[in-house]
Amino acid sequence: MEPLRITNPATGELLQEVPAADAAAANAAVERARAAQPAWGALPFGERGRILRRLARALRDDATFLDTLMSESGKPRYEAEGMELFYTLELTRFYTGRAGRRALADELRGPMVFANKRARVVRHPRGVVVVIGPWNWPLLNNYADCVAPLAAGNAVVLKPSEHTPLTSLRVAALARAAGVPDGVFQVVTGRGDAGAALTALADMIFFTGSASTGKQVAKAAAERLVPVVLELGGKSPMIVLADADLPRAAHAAVWSGFANSGQVCIRTERVLVEASVADRFINLAATEIARLRQAPSPLASPDAADVDVGAMTFAPQIEHAERHIADAVARGGRVVTGGKRRNDLPGRFFAPTLIADATPEMDVMREETFAPVLPVMRVADAEAALRIANASPMGLSGSVWSQDARRASALARRLDAGSVCVNDVLMNYFIVEAPLGGIKASGMGFRHGTEGLRQFCRIETIVEDRPLLGWLSRLLGRELAFPYRRRSLRLLRWVMKRFY
Ligand code: NDP
Repeated sequence: MEPLRITNPATGELLQEVPAADAAAANAAVERARAAQPAWGALPFGERGRILRRLARALRDDATFLDTLMSESGKPRYEAEGMELFYTLELTRFYTGRAGRRALADELRGPMVFANKRARVVRHPRGVVVVIGPWNWPLLNNYADCVAPLAAGNAVVLKPSEHTPLTSLRVAALARAAGVPDGVFQVVTGRGDAGAALTALADMIFFTGSASTGKQVAKAAAERLVPVVLELGGKSPMIVLADADLPRAAHAAVWSGFANSGQVCIRTERVLVEASVADRFINLAATEIARLRQAPSPLASPDAADVDVGAMTFAPQIEHAERHIADAVARGGRVVTGGKRRNDLPGRFFAPTLIADATPEMDVMREETFAPVLPVMRVADAEAALRIANASPMGLSGSVWSQDARRASALARRLDAGSVCVNDVLMNYFIVEAPLGGIKASGMGFRHGTEGLRQFCRIETIVEDRPLLGWLSRLLGRELAFPYRRRSLRLLRWVMKRFY
């Protein structure tokens, strides 16, 4: 199979050729994982946690790991280190600590009527979890999504995007050195067909990517009735009410619109601002954009934080952005700033673009843009904003801005989205204690929180006698089963009258 050629999007330089796995290689990886999982799952939770924390520290301390991440993605050091690496450490802390231990511990539930019994809810690892990652966050949406299934005792096979596999390969090498047993965490590099081969073998699939691939993955999961988590695209709205702190809102719109060059699933994809403050908001945002520094991020200077907006990791996103801008302009939109490729820079860069006078029928207001393009639409009031926001087929994230925190919070509850920030953006991703996932076409299932860990377990309920009440169980066991007795039915009738 033709190898993958990985290039640096910020410079165009060829970085490395990587083998592309075929179905046989995918099969072999899953078999290795299956053989390794029972011993990993049988380790005490604390021991698995110690190994995963050692790996997280190795990622933090390795001298060249971030260079790999930056060079295959073209992102600034701040985003590689301050977002991807920071998040991986924080997530590992959460899932390998007390919260993780509690979430996975046996749970005893006492029935009200059959008080002589108790139900023990046991969580077992599911087996082999296949994690399929996108190219926009080579660490945060790839290895970091393996932390929860690994902490829960599963073996994981990770298939990174064919465009950014090098970071995952470095993690695999560091994992071996950190003591992750052979076969417990493997990286299979390849194209979509390798992903498809893995989904046909997994005990559970955790997929992050586009809705169209997500549907194929869901079909593969349905075929074999295995659980699947889908983390898909978004069209997250930012609703700015007239009483918002406008400089703060504009600053947040620019950060969440242009961080990672707009290649962020929960980014602000559209701004809905009350008409009375729209011009001021647009001027403030344009001023913020003018200050952004866009360039390749130097690898050799770890202390440099002198680039804000990096390259476009995935080349087709540039044409996609251009199509959205052309459509917006044809329908009466106004490019306030940006709107074109940065041909003055090496590699693939696109100027941060602000579009005013956006309307709901524009592609840029309806489809995921996933590029540094931010449309702003004037709305009559909060209700109009909510109507337009909720008309989207997607429901990943969003934000509401008002200095009246109660009003903003009430509006946030009415947004169709998996998570919403009030007077902030993107923080919903970094608060790992709370679940994050999409609704509607943005997916199903979660990452983060207790929910994001427990979903990687199958549940077994074991019904036991309550200590000291075994005699009652023996008595009732005789009473309630064959041969059916009139007095038992009288007892059940009494219960039905008494309790319901
Ligand atoms: P894709 O759907 O194109 O690819 C995602 C992954 O699936 C890649 O590893 C891809 O491999 C693989 N793949 C392709 N075909 C198949 C198949 N038939 N079976 C199994 N796996 C397959 O998405 P992108 O990589 O373009 O990612 C961008 C999208 O991801 C955006 O829509 C973005 O919003 C979304 N996203 C969602 C997040 C969330 O948390 N909700 C977070 C981050 C991104 P290959 O690349 O080799 O083709």
